[in-house]
Amino acid sequence: MSLSTSLTIALAIFGLALIYKVSTWFRYKIGIQSIEIRTSERVFSALKGILLTVFSPKILTLLKVFVLDVLLQLRILKEDFLRWFMHLCIYGGFMLLLLMHALDKYITVALFNNYYPTINPFMFLRNLFGVFVILGVAIAIYRRFILKVPRLITNAMDIYTIIIVAVIMLSGIFLEATKMVAYSDYQRMVNEYSGLSDPQELKALEAYWVKEFGTVSPNLKGPFDEKILAQGRDLHQSSCAECHAKPQWAFAGYGTAKVISPIGLKIDRARLPSLLWYLHVLACWVGLAYLPFSKMFHIFTSQLSLLANSVMEKGKSFPANIATRQVMELDACTHCGTCSLRCSVAIVFDEIPNINILPSEKIASVKALASGKKLSPQALRNIQEGVYLCTNCYRCTVVCPVGINLQDLWFNVRETLLQKGYPEFFALSPLSFYRGLMREQTVRKDYEKPLIRAREAIASQCDLMKRKEKVLPLTPADRPFQSGLNLSAQARTFSVCFGCQTCTTVCPVVSNYDNPQEALGLLPHQIMHAAGLGLRDLAFGSNMLWDCLTCYQCQEQCPQGVSVTDVLYELKNLAIKHVRERAL
Ligand code: SF4
Ligand code: SF4
Ligand code: SF4
Ligand code: SF4
Repeated sequence: MSLSTSLTIALAIFGLALIYKVSTWFRYKIGIQSIEIRTSERVFSALKGILLTVFSPKILTLLKVFVLDVLLQLRILKEDFLRWFMHLCIYGGFMLLLLMHALDKYITVALFNNYYPTINPFMFLRNLFGVFVILGVAIAIYRRFILKVPRLITNAMDIYTIIIVAVIMLSGIFLEATKMVAYSDYQRMVNEYSGLSDPQELKALEAYWVKEFGTVSPNLKGPFDEKILAQGRDLHQSSCAECHAKPQWAFAGYGTAKVISPIGLKIDRARLPSLLWYLHVLACWVGLAYLPFSKMFHIFTSQLSLLANSVMEKGKSFPANIATRQVMELDACTHCGTCSLRCSVAIVFDEIPNINILPSEKIASVKALASGKKLSPQALRNIQEGVYLCTNCYRCTVVCPVGINLQDLWFNVRETLLQKGYPEFFALSPLSFYRGLMREQTVRKDYEKPLIRAREAIASQCDLMKRKEKVLPLTPADRPFQSGLNLSAQARTFSVCFGCQTCTTVCPVVSNYDNPQEALGLLPHQIMHAAGLGLRDLAFGSNMLWDCLTCYQCQEQCPQGVSVTDVLYELKNLAIKHVRERAL
């Protein structure tokens, strides 16, 4: 099969795979809001959004982000110089090699007259870009396997990427080196292009190539007579110089050729240049065809994500475009691990070995979830645990070098799981402050559904909540319940409450109701009292407990230093534990 046929096949696979991957951005769904939006609407909104952006002042923002974040990758530089340098080497070198060398027939030939890969600046630049990529890959290996950057998890896709890039680069350099030393290659070129037949002239040219071009000849060995070399130089100038720059410019290939020259004849006899050519081309074409399915796809999507995020804003952009961007962001992740390094709950991963706790690892699971694939109950539980433990603290979003709005992503995934009503529920963070902040943007029934479900689950086990009477009987004090409030030191602070009601006065949930007592049952200061008196059912049965947003305002304002929010948090966990124990 010819080179151009195999390239065309690889490009065709790449093109089809690209179309398939881009189609998933419009088909996959994350979050409750995106369920209602049809694919055609998302495609139409994307086109409209692009046109509106390009023909508006936002184009200047796009240009700025393109230069600073896409070309110079300053977001990575802010985080870590070594990683920035590594990324620039791999990304810059790889893209330039792809455009100038791999696609030379389509791009370089069209741009430059008399292009030959064996003349300068192309020969020198090919080596320079290749060395950049190798340096980048070496730094990547060093960071992952020697420096062992914390929470930088290496998965199969990372290893595949490192291997394929390393094989392409190293086979390219060795191919160049073996071609330099191969006598049969030299002979073929002389026969095809020189037009020489005089034995003396042929000998002079060969001597010149042995001395200056590193060719290993079975017939000639240096040192050579100056007169022969001068004649060879003249013949070279007239027959070969137009297509062959001095090999020293290909510094990586030439350096390697010098090292292998003692076995140059054996290499030629073993037809190693041909084997390396097939290996190099095959690795390139496999890499190209598989690129849209691999981690390397981020070399396109990360840039798109940075550009899209710079001009899109929740609440202002079309909801259909927000839904599309969120799916696209899953492909933009470079699996760099920065988010996991900064994540405020990543420390839990040391105790609970669920990789979905780490934001960088959760992306792959969320991708499977968004695709609509049927996941096993265990896989679902793992994702649930990962997203429920997240505090929506925003730290991952701030540091993500490709600008993925991770906070939004986790919130949407959590809402999807909450609404689907998967039975397992964890430490109640889904009913958290961030969710309260997002209340306005959530459909009322969707917001309340999980809260009602949590309440019902507790009510089914707590006698007091089942009672319909307005005046409720006082439940007997439950001392074991009181002593159960000991997970954290703060949870015991309810005992110093002197009932000033400051906590209740500052509580945004309480102030949300005209008649809070009726809507919420016990108010924060009363729950502190109930805890103090050991009235378990009374404390568990209060709607206030389940409506608390964990905003910490009460805790911050309490003059007695009662950790009101922490007490409420522990009460919720105790309630869940109580329900589980009764259910067994
Ligand atoms: S928002 Fe969640 S995932 Fe992101 S850093 Fe905070 S806790 Fe971690
Ligand atoms: S989400 Fe962002 S920070 Fe996290 S691994 Fe992916 S690219 Fe890196
Ligand atoms: S503010 Fe503190 S002392 Fe006052 S009622 Fe609330 S918990 Fe008790
Ligand atoms: S943390 Fe305190 S102030 Fe905030 S919602 Fe809960 S009870 Fe109210």
